[in-house]
Amino acid sequence: MSFADLGLSDELLRAVSESGYDSPTPIQRQAIPSILMMRDLIGIAQTGTGKTAAFVLPMIDILGNGRARARMPRSLILEPTRELAAQVAENFVKYGKYHKLNMALLIGGVQMGDQVKALEKGVDVLIATPGRLMDLFERGKILLTGCELLVIDEGDRMLDMGFIPDIEKICTKLPATRQTLLFSATMPAPIKKLADKFLSNPKSIEVARPATANVNITQYWVKVDERKKRDTLRALLRAAPDHSAIVFCNRKTTVRELAKSLKAGGVNAGEIHGDMDQSSRIAELDRFKAGQISVLVASDVAARGLDVKGVSHVFNHDTPWHPDDYIHRIGRTGRAGATGTAYTFVTAKDAEAVENIQKLLGLPIQWLDERDATGGVTTTRDAEHSPVSTATDAADAAPRKRSRAKGATAAKTSAVVADTPAPVVPVADGDTDATPATRAPRRAAKPRVADSAPAQRSAEAPANPNPIATRKRPPSANVADDTVDDGGWNGPMPGFLDFKFGG
Ligand code: AMP
Repeated sequence: MSFADLGLSDELLRAVSESGYDSPTPIQRQAIPSILMMRDLIGIAQTGTGKTAAFVLPMIDILGNGRARARMPRSLILEPTRELAAQVAENFVKYGKYHKLNMALLIGGVQMGDQVKALEKGVDVLIATPGRLMDLFERGKILLTGCELLVIDEGDRMLDMGFIPDIEKICTKLPATRQTLLFSATMPAPIKKLADKFLSNPKSIEVARPATANVNITQYWVKVDERKKRDTLRALLRAAPDHSAIVFCNRKTTVRELAKSLKAGGVNAGEIHGDMDQSSRIAELDRFKAGQISVLVASDVAARGLDVKGVSHVFNHDTPWHPDDYIHRIGRTGRAGATGTAYTFVTAKDAEAVENIQKLLGLPIQWLDERDATGGVTTTRDAEHSPVSTATDAADAAPRKRSRAKGATAAKTSAVVADTPAPVVPVADGDTDATPATRAPRRAAKPRVADSAPAQRSAEAPANPNPIATRKRPPSANVADDTVDDGGWNGPMPGFLDFKFGG
């Protein structure tokens, strides 16, 4: 099936083809015709499946006819974070270049005056985070009575971040006759309830996690002493001179300190975390996208769902506390058919987290130790380790040189990320400097079955049993968790915030 079979306009087909896409992804194939027929829709899909274009493309054609009135947006897209909102806006710019539609972006931290000005001009597409939208609504700056199309994106993420009450309020302000599209990676009970309440006879579509389809991500655990993490990271980066890497840390302070240390050591590094204002985050991301920095040190919230082409490596400088964060982190590489490599640094205190991730993945991950990474001893063979295949030598363990270009050569093995996500327990999930012991587990890790054959490497060389699984758990710490980051941005407006389609 081609895009032309989906009922989209010629102008849109031209923009899609100029974006380099030949055929629609499964979610696009299933969603676009129904959306064009004005049906409500529930899409169970996560980032990486092409879900953004699945709603952006039909929206552009639906909104192509008709004019916007001041303060009365014609459509509304709700996103949980500013970065995701900005990404959706970029999609409208890319696909909407042959349409004359106005767009505005309402996100926390941007000066309200500019946003109000954009609204007063009249917008066809309003992309917003719930908090900022409610704020402007309560100040009487927006009327939602003309809003005939609503998209609630990343429903389960909205739930995690405590936005459901805001979303419910927003839904009641829109006309009852509107069309509503709801996207969520999972369907926990509160999201199901939201759908039952605010969607009318929706069509339901479910697509597999993107990594199950054809994405190859070679994954490694790297057993490392806490004090050796930086050396190990530097060694792995040195071994891949053309890297474009994201390094995840569990705490904002670690992000800052690590970025500083890498820069001091001559690495072309940048950082992105919840304490930075929005303009700095966007600037840093743009530098990374443009290849001006090759290593982006990031926190989970700031980098969640980011879609940057050509990321060759993900490093988990700290093992993530929640298994689903692991899935999201490594999913920043191996996107859009390319391949990638993910290294997760594991210290003795990470035993439980590793076990949970391992259960969630349902397939073994290769173990290395820091000596592999630094080019020393070839395999992990201490008393706690089972021998691994000779394929695991230092050269093999080091990242392969790769280019940012689309279709860069694949790593030689693939690892399959497991399928259906586990149920969500609502908990605010901002960037944090707190320790894991103070956070409620957000999801129960449950074993998953990978939906394609196990990795080639796994078949050749069964992974080692977890070498640290029997060690003691870390002591609890009494540090309060941070709340969701939605801090201030008083910087300049990025150009696309007030963008007129079609010039
Ligand atoms: P999303 O799931 O919206 O985050 O999209 C994931 C990635 O897939 C983005 O880089 C899109 O630009 C890309 N993409 C979207 N639609 C297609 C398509 N039909 N063919 C290939 N790539 C696509």
